[in-house]
Amino acid sequence: MQRFDNARAAALALRPDEPVYCFRPQVLKDDAVQFMGMFPGKTAYAVKTNGEPIVLKALVEAGVTAFDVASPGEFAAVRAVSDDAEMLYMHPVKAQADIKLALEKYGIRVISVDHEDEITKLTRVVRALDIDPGAITVFVRVQTKGHAAYELSKKFGAGPAYAVELAERLAKTGYKVGLCFHVGSQIEDPDTYERALASADWVRNRLSFDLAGLDVGGGFPAEYGHDPNRKQVEMPSLGQIMSRLSGDIKEYQFDQMPLVAEPGRVIVARCLSLIVRVLLRKGRRLYINDGIWASLSDSWTGKITLPARFIPDPAIRSRNGSEKNIVPFKVCGATCDSVDILSRPFRLPETVDTGDWIEIGHIGAYSLSLRTRFNGFYPDTFVEVTTPFDEGDAPQGFASLETMAD
Ligand SMILES: *Cc1c(COP(=O)(O)O)cnc(C)c1O
Repeated sequence: MQRFDNARAAALALRPDEPVYCFRPQVLKDDAVQFMGMFPGKTAYAVKTNGEPIVLKALVEAGVTAFDVASPGEFAAVRAVSDDAEMLYMHPVKAQADIKLALEKYGIRVISVDHEDEITKLTRVVRALDIDPGAITVFVRVQTKGHAAYELSKKFGAGPAYAVELAERLAKTGYKVGLCFHVGSQIEDPDTYERALASADWVRNRLSFDLAGLDVGGGFPAEYGHDPNRKQVEMPSLGQIMSRLSGDIKEYQFDQMPLVAEPGRVIVARCLSLIVRVLLRKGRRLYINDGIWASLSDSWTGKITLPARFIPDPAIRSRNGSEKNIVPFKVCGATCDSVDILSRPFRLPETVDTGDWIEIGHIGAYSLSLRTRFNGFYPDTFVEVTTPFDEGDAPQGFASLETMAD
């Protein structure tokens, strides 16, 4: 992989017409090490957030030894970068063939369920493979209520009373039993984990046996850009969220058992930025070479404010206006699909023109893992960049809340 100081140097050297991902392995390692240092238990990175081999490899180098996986593709991706990394199969709804593959080929011994039929599937495989259920830890996924940018508690999880029933049934069959929850992605309310812990506590107090562990899932918020025209949502720092979580874990006396977290976004968001090219400027519209069907679907939802930095093409000799004048542009994606327009305008210097580049920061999470081959576009070019996105000139742009007429 070619290496550059920053995205501007990469853009000016390569003059890329295709989107280019700028990977910062040191930022990734620092963010992983920081999280592991703060969480009082095992850190299992959620592979779906970004399962690129270079990302998984860097995480292994940073000392991550456990991964939250959900599919055969993810089992293989983790095994490809580490022979001995532990995998936690935390998808509550699984194909029976995938359970067999997990247990038999990949040696997975941690799994989650939220329904009795999932226990039936699991036990069928366990018996067929002649595995002692006592060698397997089954986490019962408890439903939670919370406020996250992406709510997942509606789709999965057993209500507290049903969770008690599932846990008792698992314990009777001989499994080790834990409780888990996942509050959704990018939490927006610092009380979220405490509410989930209270539900887990309610379940625990009704069990006839001791729990083998508690898994608090993901949801830890990553830092993004901020639109100065919008009232800033007051969120505590990750350090503050973590010390509160650790305190609550002690208060609810979950600190005496093995703990697991499944962070995704907070580990990988900062380690990648994306260089896109302006293929055409049409008034206040910019047509770029990426979009919602490639790296920018997470921004399309409008819930994330991505920072952006203008990289003018020095070959453009004459420009209209002043680079200091920052104005909103509607950003249209690469495909022919008419929905492929970012939901919020980007604010950029009014001088931006056809042929310029824009670096979009903090796109390491739920970006390239969601890209499609729709319309034949599939960004897949990577360079290594040494300077973190937030060092250097302040980004001019961000997805702003103002709406724009066509
Ligand atoms: C997606 C997911 C995660 C990661 O969530 P982040 O918000 O990215 O930290 C963790 N656990 C489960 C079960 C998930 O589905």
